[in-house]
Amino acid sequence: MIDLVADDSLSNQIKEICGENVKKCYQCGKCTASCPLSFAMDVKPNQVMRMAQLGLKEVLQSSTIWICASCASCTARCPLEIRISFVMDALREIALKENIPPKEPNIPLFHRVFFRWIGWLGKLYELGFIMEYKLRSRQWFNDILMGIKMFINGKLNPIPTSSPNSEEVRKLIEKASQR
Ligand code: SF4
Ligand code: SF4
Repeated sequence: MIDLVADDSLSNQIKEICGENVKKCYQCGKCTASCPLSFAMDVKPNQVMRMAQLGLKEVLQSSTIWICASCASCTARCPLEIRISFVMDALREIALKENIPPKEPNIPLFHRVFFRWIGWLGKLYELGFIMEYKLRSRQWFNDILMGIKMFINGKLNPIPTSSPNSEEVRKLIEKASQR
């Protein structure tokens, strides 16, 4: 007989970081059915929950934890209202702490560059952010048509401006990054 013993360490870490109890999940699959990005995920949202319950740290190497867009459609459909995007965030945090190389390296890069610009100006300077992200990811021509369209429609201001609350925003980002 196979003796399956769940390792609680991953679920405990998740609970400590975001307060969500992955052990409540009973695998109804509604999260996966309602996820607009599940088609692109290597591990589906309900499988992420199951792996987290069992303490299978391989989930930290999945692309799913980086692909999740935190849209919360899954939580809206979950009969237990589990905040699955919070679980995904916690798994990202654990992966980074454990130096597990992200399977989608441009996504954490996007987050880092985004928050650095917000930290500098207290709000996003889209053009600067896009230029830096493109330079660092070397994806020069991805979404170029959308960028041109946004520029023509006045959505990309060429002059950076800062928020009057930039100092508070900077402190908030600093505090969050010390976790
Ligand atoms: S919808 Fe909720 S209970 Fe159902 S599988 Fe997803 S997380 Fe688990
Ligand atoms: S929050 Fe993430 S897992 Fe949930 S539906 Fe949105 S993309 Fe999918």
